Amino acid sequence: MDGRMLEGKVALVTGGSRGIGRAIAERLGRDGAVVAVAYARDQAAADEVVERIGKDGGRAFAIRAELGRHGDAAALWAAFDARVQPHSLRPGVDIIVNNAGIGRSSDLAALTEEQFDEVFAVNVRAPFFVVRHGLSRLRDGGRVINISSGAARLAMPEIIAYAATKGALDTFTLNLAAQLGPRGITANSVAPGIVDTDINAGWLRGNPEAEAHAASLAALGRVGQPEDIAGIVAFLASDDARWVTGRVIDATGGAGL
Ligand code: NAP
Repeated sequence: MDGRMLEGKVALVTGGSRGIGRAIAERLGRDGAVVAVAYARDQAAADEVVERIGKDGGRAFAIRAELGRHGDAAALWAAFDARVQPHSLRPGVDIIVNNAGIGRSSDLAALTEEQFDEVFAVNVRAPFFVVRHGLSRLRDGGRVINISSGAARLAMPEIIAYAATKGALDTFTLNLAAQLGPRGITANSVAPGIVDTDINAGWLRGNPEAEAHAASLAALGRVGQPEDIAGIVAFLASDDARWVTGRVIDATGGAGL
């Protein structure tokens, strides 16, 4: 594909400071988009991503927006509006990547109402309202890409509420695609399997047995890397994917075949 196929586009990546979101932000930056790197707490990590994109010849800026609270999406867009101007001559956004997410959840017996509310607030409510408030800014022909999970399709009772958030996100994607299609805007979910990021660091990194088990779950026989997911997102963001909408794109390396 053309190396700068997103030239002239503006992208927002939530959770762009680390893990999968970082790889997505860097990839979209390399592909030519101006990237708003949204983060919650880790400003140093977000600044590092902006710097990396700059070194690769792209343009980016960081915005702090902690998601999971009432008013979060409006605050995110206010921060976006305040920063986008010098980077892009046109106001607005072309690509919204709802990537920020948290994995905290437990099995049904141990699940608390607080855990349920927290995981739904970050993983579901925030993407809903990021898009709702973003709609007036999202240009025709744009993209909404929601980072879901293979857990929405494969039963994993040990993370039952997390899995349910991703099922809800996929249903959101489906309905967005129907609503936004007339404007040439596509909406798709990307559903990773186990990816080597901080979210899994506690049980995966430095534990060869756990890594071998995680690798065995994918037909392709390894743990996913953030760049594996970023490549799929870059495709969906590109003009080549203009005829794909309302879908969940499996990004598990072939889990549960
Ligand atoms: P990660 O390494 O833990 O990074 C999470 C990112 O989201 C960070 O940039 C973080 O910002 C941001 N974030 C976390 N809580 C936030 C909040 N309340 N408000 C705003 N931003 C917040 O996670 P990851 O593994 O890359 O996961 C990214 C997405 O992929 C999530 O939606 C996750 O559910 C999904 N996913 C991951 C896997 C996997 O195996 N890793 C598998 C399937 C799906 P700070 O740096 O400021 O903390």
